[in-house]
Order: sequence, then structure tokens, then C-alpha cells
Amino acid sequence: MEYKSTRSKNVSGVSSAFAIKSGLAPDGGLYMPERLPHIDEKTLHALSGMTYPERAAEILSMFLSDYTKEELLKDCRAAYSEDNFPGGATQIVNFAPDMYSLELWHGPTCAFKDMALQIMPRLLSSALRKTGEKRTALILVATSGDTGKAALEGYKNTDRIKIQVFYPENGVSRVQKLQMATQTGDNVDVCAIKGNFDDAQTGVKRIFSDASVRAELDAQGVFLSSANSINWGRLAPQIVYYISAYCDLAAPGKIKYGDEIDVCVPTGNFGNIFAAYIANLMGLPIGHLICASNKNNILTDFLSTGVYDRNRDFYTTISPSMDILISSNLERLLYLICGPEATGKYMKELAEKGRYEISGEDFAKIKEKFIGYFADEDKTKSTIKATYEKHGYLIDPHTAVAVSAAEDFIKDKGKSAPIIIASTASPYKFAKDVYSALTGKSAKGDLEALGELSAMTGVEIPGPLRGIGDRKIRFDKVTDPVGMADMVMSFAKK
Ligand SMILES: *Cc1c(COP(=O)(O)O)cnc(C)c1O
Repeated sequence: MEYKSTRSKNVSGVSSAFAIKSGLAPDGGLYMPERLPHIDEKTLHALSGMTYPERAAEILSMFLSDYTKEELLKDCRAAYSEDNFPGGATQIVNFAPDMYSLELWHGPTCAFKDMALQIMPRLLSSALRKTGEKRTALILVATSGDTGKAALEGYKNTDRIKIQVFYPENGVSRVQKLQMATQTGDNVDVCAIKGNFDDAQTGVKRIFSDASVRAELDAQGVFLSSANSINWGRLAPQIVYYISAYCDLAAPGKIKYGDEIDVCVPTGNFGNIFAAYIANLMGLPIGHLICASNKNNILTDFLSTGVYDRNRDFYTTISPSMDILISSNLERLLYLICGPEATGKYMKELAEKGRYEISGEDFAKIKEKFIGYFADEDKTKSTIKATYEKHGYLIDPHTAVAVSAAEDFIKDKGKSAPIIIASTASPYKFAKDVYSALTGKSAKGDLEALGELSAMTGVEIPGPLRGIGDRKIRFDKVTDPVGMADMVMSFAKK
């Protein structure tokens, strides 16, 4: 399988190892497979008899043809081990009639990003070998909370790879800050930024495009790489769990092989929902893809009007991982629907005017499959409360946005097919907001909320968040955005 760019016909024939190593195509586009592999009912039957790591290796091998099956199986077994994901990599909870919550947060950092970031470092390690790369990779991450910790856990103690994470000093929750500040591993570094997430992100982008920094690093045998969801190595592992979830419903007869299901995904950068779309194009019977947004509802507007317009207010919400105005992976959908030339044109308009509009037939094609809903802050909170009171099921704010969208969808359509809702974070990762949604009172503090929520609901606190306040702080550096390049240089030398 070879890869090509979403933006022009000239970048093609790229190996999967090279696409994973470089992240972004040289024309600024994202890498996509040149064609999509096909699965049918026979494949689904066969996958049903396998464990999650075996299913993952099977599906990844369809996309990563320059990796051997044995390699992939070894990596998947290590990534999705019982140690990393106690009780299973994914767990499905049938919390209401025809509503299945696909819990993707049983990994080391209690958010779904572990599903990709536990396997991706292994894929990158092999990619360095396969492409004859002699230098060390330095992964730079700007994070608003979840990605940074998941990347640190995934990349810690990986040979010939270092990772450095920057987060906004006052822009992450106490739990998220402690998760990063107490990170273990000998190839990791964490630094707070005086500023907001945009300052951290802009700082990282500036370092990536600074030729003198790159040359200096190169002289030391180091090159920069990234871990965010524009990298195909992060997207491919996300296709697996939708196919796997279908098998988990079909095998015990909850659905019949061939039955259509709907899928609802709380969406920010459009990576997770796009993975479900790929599964569908491969042959997984999915009727509708429900795109759930919070108050930053740019995608809801896009899916109802065809106009993508980022010239709007930005809101900070209780589902912070979806507070995004530029959904990078939407570019991959545009590419599949409109082709590389039109995609290049739309992306140029987005960069220059912050806006683009897609035309009649292309828009109709998107609407055949995708439908968007959003939940504002009050709706998110009332959904957390109602889901707990009606169904006895405790959910985090991101999952609540999706549950609200799924309920809206059922209301609009009348009776629907079974819906798989991607549950993207443990409620304990956002315990303070969940506690206040349930009780109308505020908890004493972020850490106290963990205990209060658990005492109230009887739901256990996940292992990785237990006793987080007692762990040793390893990283307490803070820098101005201008000091970031120096931080990178000195960490690279270590
Ligand atoms: C990253 C994240 C999302 C959004 O996923 P995208 O792939 O960016 O659309 C949703 N929920 C949680 C908890 C996340 O960490």
C-alpha cells in the first residue's frame, strides 16, 4: 500500500513507514492511502474469533504493507496488553435501548488517545529502521491536556526517540497538569508556557519551520517529528476499534452480520470520526455518522450549510479536547469527496480568509453519510445528570456531548439502528465538572472531586488517576513562548 498527499497529484508512491516518519506531506497536505482495502462479512466473521491485538494487527497490516504481520502482532500485543488496558482495550456498555457506549479510555491516561498513542511509537520506531534513518527523532507536542500525557506515556523509554511537551501554564486542569508533571521515563521533558494553548501551538510550529534550529539539531543527529492526529500513524489504529466493536455486537447476536449500525463521535480535530468513515468505506455497514460538537459548533454549521467559517468566537468549555476551530482531518474527507485540486484550493482559502464553501454535488455526498448536532454547556451538564439518573451510567463531558447528539438524532429520525457512541474519556478525568453537573454543587477542588464523585456513585477511580496528588513532581519548568527554542535545543543535547 502506498500513500499520496491530499493536496496534489505530484506527491504519491510514499511508503507507510515514510508517511509515519514524516507526518505531513511536503506540499503541506496529509497522507492518505492510494486505495482502501476491503472487508466483507467473511472478514468480520474471521475477526470475531480474534483478540483485540490480533484484530488490530490484521487490520493494520491491510494499510501498513511494509510492516510484517509478525512485527505488527508483536507491537499490538505489547500496546494493547492487559497491563496497559486492564479489562480489555475497548469495553462496550449497552446503557440504554439500542445505545452502546464504546469505552475507549481504559488505557494509561484515561482518554481515547491512548488507543493510537500506545501503538504509534512502536510504528515510528520500526519506521526509523525501515527508512534507514540514522538520526534520533525528537517529538514536539503542544497540548491542551490529553494529547500531551498520552504521547508521553506512549513514547517514554522508546529507543532513539525523545519527546518534549509544552502546555499552557493555566490552561489545563489540575489533574492534567499533575499527570504531565509526574511523568516517568528517561527520554521525556515537560515544560509549561506562560500563555494559552495557541501560544504553545504557535511556538511549536515556529520551531518546526525555523531552518536554523533544524540545521543545528541536524548537526547533533536529531530531527523533529510530531505526534498529532494529522499523522496517518495515529489515524490507522483508530479504524480498528470501530470494526472490532461491530464484531463484539455481531458475535453474541446483538446484531446480525450485515446489519447497519449508526456511529456517533464527539468531535474536535475530526480524526476519530474520520476513522469510522474509513471503516465504512472499507465495507463496515454504517448507516449514519453522527458528528457531535460542543458550543464550538463549526462542524455542525458546516454539515448543515456547506460553509466552513472559522471567523467566530472561540469558547472554553467543560469538554476542552473539542475546543477547536480548525479541524485538521476534515481535509482528508474533502480529499476523498472533492479530489486533491479542490482540496488544495479550499485549504488555501481557509488559510487566507478563514472560510470556504463546498459546492452542490460534493456537499450532497457528505450529507448522505454525515449529520451534525451540538450540545451547549447546559445541555452537556444536563445530559451527564440525566444519563446517570435514568440509566445509572456515569459519563464524562465529551461523551455527554455525543450522547446528547445521539438522542437528538433518534428524535429526528424516529426509530434508528443500534448506535455506537464513542466514549472518549473517563468521567474521573473531568471529575470536578461531572460532580457539579450531578449535584449542582462545586467540589472542594480538582483532586477532592475524584473522591467525592466516587463516594457518591460507587464507581471506581481508574488506577492511573488514583493517588495522583502523592506522586513526585519531576517537571516544574515554566518559560515564555520565546524561550521555547532554547528549551528544545538544550533537551536535544541531553
Ligand atoms: C481528542 C479528544 C476528542 C476529539 O477527537 P478528534 O479525533 O480530535 O475529533 C474527544 N474527546 C476527548 C476526550 C479527546 O481527548
